[in-house]
Amino acid sequence: MNSDLTSCGVFGEEQHRLAQRSYPAPIADDRFAFERDRDRVVQSRSFRRLAGKTQVFTSRASDHFRSRLTHTIEVAQVARQVASALGLNVDLAETLALVHDIGHPPFGHAGERALDVCMQAHGLRFDHNLHALRIVERFEQRYAGHRGLNLTLGTREGIIKHSRDYRTEDYPELAGYFLDKRPPLEAQIIDLADEIAYLTADLDDGVESGLLEIGHICDHVSLLRRSYEVVAAAHPAAEEKYIFHDALQAMQKALTLDLIATTAKNVNDAGATSLADIRNLSQRVAVFSPEAESQRLEEKHYLYETLYTCPALDLEHSKAEEVVTELFNFWLEEPEALPESYADDIQSEGLVRVITDYIAGMTDHFILLQYADVRRRVRSGGLPIRSAAKLK
Ligand code: MG
Repeated sequence: MNSDLTSCGVFGEEQHRLAQRSYPAPIADDRFAFERDRDRVVQSRSFRRLAGKTQVFTSRASDHFRSRLTHTIEVAQVARQVASALGLNVDLAETLALVHDIGHPPFGHAGERALDVCMQAHGLRFDHNLHALRIVERFEQRYAGHRGLNLTLGTREGIIKHSRDYRTEDYPELAGYFLDKRPPLEAQIIDLADEIAYLTADLDDGVESGLLEIGHICDHVSLLRRSYEVVAAAHPAAEEKYIFHDALQAMQKALTLDLIATTAKNVNDAGATSLADIRNLSQRVAVFSPEAESQRLEEKHYLYETLYTCPALDLEHSKAEEVVTELFNFWLEEPEALPESYADDIQSEGLVRVITDYIAGMTDHFILLQYADVRRRVRSGGLPIRSAAKLK
């Protein structure tokens, strides 16, 4: 099996085609197009805000829990490793990893669910991939001549399509992103790199929080059990927590190597030798082997049952949903209370979309400040009484 997929990567003519930007890049320098995109993403305000957004744990009971920023950096590590092993464009893969969660609202998936429910009441949906595109095209204002980061076509396509496909019938505004074709391998590997990173990290943070126990994980998660037994056999006198950390690294490595080998095998089996071939395949080829996939599902199920929906986190999620929903309804009633820069967009975008854009950009800390501020103003009579009814 040939695991060098360079001929299928985004290089040469294909790189040139996907390096197109909406506006000419003003200053020529030695960086390749995707390196420049990576630097623009890292220097954006929305990237820095990832430090203040929940990954799994909303409350900061430990300084060692992942934030969405440190999770993002871990995804980039895995993506670089996979792209490099397969001979793909490492700069593009790294850029897509660094930008992959930039559209996430505060409070992790609880915040995302709440925003989506709020929008559905008005016939709209919240989609963090499409919101990420709005951020890099509209809300990042870092340049004198245009709105947005002016990222390449390849990066924008990857932002939209790294985790799912979109149909042109449903999303005519995305027609320029080859919706009837598969994305490049550099984008396909991002969703799996994300899985590898969080499957490892959430066990680690779960144990750090005291909500998960190492022995219980080993009893129910075969991916970790195997690694744990190997490390324990090699270091019989080591403390359990160090064996566990070593086993987590081994587990991450096993999943990463499985992704590399399975992707290479699938590309070879399909006879694909170019990016055009990859795009024309009927499905994505960057996947885990059937065995690793069933182990992945086993662990994911375990994490849902024991961590994501446990009473301690459920309480945090309910509070998060309450904050998002009440603020959303408040600004719906009182659009004049929105910051001026957002109010300007109400005419063109509609009030519901503008409120969503405002909330989705917030960090956990900032949205709680907004919530406290609005409640204070309602209580002190600084806002009309009809808002008071919305804020308990
Ligand atoms: Mg992620």
